[in-house]
Parts: sequence; C-alpha cells; structure tokens
Amino acid sequence: MTADAAMCSRAGCRADALWRIDWRNPKIHAADRTKTWVACDQHRDYLREFLAARNFPVTVAALDAAPTESAR
Ligand SMILES: [Zn+2]
Repeated sequence: MTADAAMCSRAGCRADALWRIDWRNPKIHAADRTKTWVACDQHRDYLREFLAARNFPVTVAALDAAPTESAR
C-alpha cells in the first residue's frame, strides 16, 4: 500500500490533496500554534471559507511547495 499521498481533509473525500490550509483558532490555540488541513482542488475553497467564516486566520498554499515527499 502506498499511503504517502496526502488525502483531502474534507470528510468523506478521498481525493489527493493539492493544497495545504494552515489555520488557527485564536480562542483555543496559542499564537504560535497552527493546524494544517490539506485539500483537493474541489474542496480548497470550501475549507478555506469554512474557516474564514469563523474569523480564523487562514493561509492557503500549494502542497508541493513544501518538501514533504519522501521516497520510501
Ligand atoms: Zn476533497
């Protein structure tokens, strides 16, 4: 089994993630603490807006910008 590809964080979605969404809940997270979701093309905007609607600081970036791939 190859489980290296990141899978979209949207519940029920099994698509490969192409985007990373870094966010923070100011009410429960310290200023230096962030959570990361990953999203496929289809759910990137959904997840970003889900967080933005709660006034959470949110940053979206291309997933392949981060060197997370490891050849195993
Ligand atoms: Zn998805």
